[in-house]
Amino acid sequence: MPTKELPEMSEITIIGGGIVGVTIAHELAKRGEEVTVIEKRFIGSGSTFRCGTGIRQQFNDEANVQVMKRSVELWKKYSEEYGFSFEQTGYLFLLYDDDEVEEFRRNIAIQNRFGVPTRLITPEEAKEIVPLLDISEVIAASWNPTDGKADPFHATAKFAIKAEEFGAKLVEYTEVKDFVIENGEIKGLKTNRGTIKTGIVVNATNAWAKLINAMAGISVRIPIEPYKHQAVITQPIRKGAIKPMVISFKYGHAYLTQTSHGGVVGGVGYELGPTYDLNPTYEFMREVSYYFTKIIPALRELLILRTWAGYYAKTPDSNPAIGKIEELSDYYIAAGFSGHGFMMAPAVAEMVADLITKGRTDLPVEWYDPYRFERGELRGEALQMG
Ligand SMILES: Cc1cc2nc3c(=O)[nH]c(=O)nc-3n(C[C@H](O)[C@H](O)[C@H](O)COP(=O)(O)OP(=O)(O)OC[C@H]3O[C@@H](n4cnc5c(N)ncnc54)[C@H](O)[C@@H]3O)c2cc1C
Repeated sequence: MPTKELPEMSEITIIGGGIVGVTIAHELAKRGEEVTVIEKRFIGSGSTFRCGTGIRQQFNDEANVQVMKRSVELWKKYSEEYGFSFEQTGYLFLLYDDDEVEEFRRNIAIQNRFGVPTRLITPEEAKEIVPLLDISEVIAASWNPTDGKADPFHATAKFAIKAEEFGAKLVEYTEVKDFVIENGEIKGLKTNRGTIKTGIVVNATNAWAKLINAMAGISVRIPIEPYKHQAVITQPIRKGAIKPMVISFKYGHAYLTQTSHGGVVGGVGYELGPTYDLNPTYEFMREVSYYFTKIIPALRELLILRTWAGYYAKTPDSNPAIGKIEELSDYYIAAGFSGHGFMMAPAVAEMVADLITKGRTDLPVEWYDPYRFERGELRGEALQMG
């Protein structure tokens, strides 16, 4: 597992050892690049190990649909090659009124155009997929059987191990404190364990991204703020009872599914911040209990075992900032995933590795242009759960 020593130098250095930093390192190392990840705590210790496991292609714009289609291909490929769990058990959006159905019809048309096989189904069909659902108020559902879920611990650890096998260095308990910059060029990074010489840096710190941007002294405004989102896990129930991720915007922007251990995991839209505080709250517990039992009444019988909190690193349009920052050579950012960065990571890794090694990528990375905020060109808000 991760290398302990900070190397003296590295061609490319990634700040942040979450799923995004680790998959970027994996992709670059696989291509033969010399790459080091610097992580202030341990691999996965940021939002990654606190996430809800969900991976979906059901977005509402062309770019996110295309990127997530590619990401799902990569999740499938790497889970099979590396032996970690990724199950295509689908995402089921429950719809309750005509406006919602219209909106999802539009989304489904975009998804279908890019080969994502989502379709509108009846409440009865939804109940066949999850027999425990209360469908008395549901009028339709948006169903894509190729969406799914992966275990964030297992997946991140496997990508980390493979990245190291390809020659990447993963350095834990090492915090980046400052940049060494000469004439607009990065020469190195100062850490609490010494300085590493490096010319190419990727900011993959998500909720902390603005702090790293400030250290780099970049002037372009990239608004990314940490918000506290919470999650819950219940005692286990019969395996296979809730296979897909079930979403209800009507009931608290709730998302829930069952883990491989059998517990019901998920969250609601209850948001606090901007803040770096991570204490779970009683109000969340009350809300999640109320909304989950509206969607699946049988959950009333279950005990909540644990709640916890993590960050959504949010931007004003709920889309990340991914790209090269021109005023400093060579500085890249891949941060601000607004609650759906786990699912995006494999495709983001491909885009960032393409930008670094080829200067271009076939995926529509312009959608995530870090300069769009400064230019006042916000995207349509990406569909966000929780
Ligand atoms: C409750 C909850 C549910 C979620 N559910 C889902 C979901 O179902 N599906 C989904 O796709 N996403 C989900 N997310 C979002 C997902 O967790 C994040 O988008 C994703 O983990 C971001 O990964 P990352 O690698 O960018 O960030 P992180 O995992 O936060 O990694 C950033 C790393 O940078 C390190 N770092 C920071 N500053 C420094 C420094 N100065 N020096 C060195 N290292 C530093 C941190 O320690 C951290 O490990 C959820 C999030 C939460 C909180």
